Amino acid sequence: MSDWKPDTVAVHGHSTVRTEGIDPVAPAIYYSSTFRAHDAPEFAEMATKPRHISFYTRYGNPTHAQAAEVLAKLEGTEVAMLTASGMGAISTAVLALLKAGDHCIAQSRHYMATAKLFGEMLPRFGVEVTIVEQTDLAAIAAAIRPTTRLIYVETPANPTLVVTDLAAVSDLAKQHNILTLADNTFAGPINSRPAALGIDVVLHSATKSLGGHSDITAGAICTTKLLAERMWDTALTLGATLSPMDAWLLLRGMRTLPLRMERINANALALAAWLEARPEVETVYYPMLPSHPQHEIAKKQMCGGGPVVAFAVRGGYDATSRFVSGLKLASQAVSLGGVETLAVHTAAMWAGSLSEAQMRTAGIAPNFVRMSVGIEDIGDLERDFAQALEGSGAA
Ligand SMILES: *Cc1c(COP(=O)(O)O)cnc(C)c1O
Repeated sequence: MSDWKPDTVAVHGHSTVRTEGIDPVAPAIYYSSTFRAHDAPEFAEMATKPRHISFYTRYGNPTHAQAAEVLAKLEGTEVAMLTASGMGAISTAVLALLKAGDHCIAQSRHYMATAKLFGEMLPRFGVEVTIVEQTDLAAIAAAIRPTTRLIYVETPANPTLVVTDLAAVSDLAKQHNILTLADNTFAGPINSRPAALGIDVVLHSATKSLGGHSDITAGAICTTKLLAERMWDTALTLGATLSPMDAWLLLRGMRTLPLRMERINANALALAAWLEARPEVETVYYPMLPSHPQHEIAKKQMCGGGPVVAFAVRGGYDATSRFVSGLKLASQAVSLGGVETLAVHTAAMWAGSLSEAQMRTAGIAPNFVRMSVGIEDIGDLERDFAQALEGSGAA
């Protein structure tokens, strides 16, 4: 079982959790917030062993256990802990490992809520944060202090798909006894396994490719048993508990993850290359394109580029706005990693919450489009993008 390939793990990886006497082919769902003891000694044992998967669902649930088992195997970590959202996983992991007076290092480009966690929330609790340019290893090394407890990376990063060298960051951190955390949402475990490169904690918004059908919000922390123990009290206290139904949908989604990623990787690369050849397009950002600034690192640590492709449309904000409005097959919606293609005008998306200067710092140009490529027919996608580009007035 330990030598199964990801395609087999995705389908059969949950099989060690069973209902006694009954053995369904599809995993069972345990929709219960609490679990019965049959006598006083059993209750006493359950209460002192709170990580029991059938005690109280905030502490764990058999459906969580099944989905966590598959994900841990796919990521190549000892355990996975599930949470109600990606931010639930990220905030739980980070808050569990830091205290007032500690120092940590994060990147200049992060998922926006993660940037707020490091930029605003941690400093409120007396944690010192240094933000570094993630492609500059010397800057990361220079930021290290005696009080540095963790380095947090996200690769490829939202929204410009900047790639961080995971092996280099993990080697550097190990020399200084610092923990490394990596948000692996964009690449996913089929394309990149940060734990194999020495990263201590791998984080996911399982809302995205892992769930894969745009129907749940979920998150995951994949790590060692020892670090999971350290995060356990914080997880219980923050209470970002995933519902059993959503854990089950995550489990169902992961069964086709390798198949979906194969198609998504191929579609995204084909569409990125196609866009690069269009006269209406200024720049395309995709890790598997040779034109990507960190393409060599991407090839080293990823075997596929994942769903997100970003590009800049010639003609500024208005032409970009007309382009996204003209899309008929691709929907204008946030999120990524689902079976359907989505595209958003990033500057419009953030206009309510960021100033123009903040957008420039975050790498969001007025003519920037971020899309998540789905599993549709590539010819249909190209036709949709062609008609929307032609109707946009971009040139
Ligand atoms: C979506 C996302 C998150 C947050 O996940 P939620 O499930 O929405 O809480 C974190 N990191 C990345 C890279 C994301 O794309």
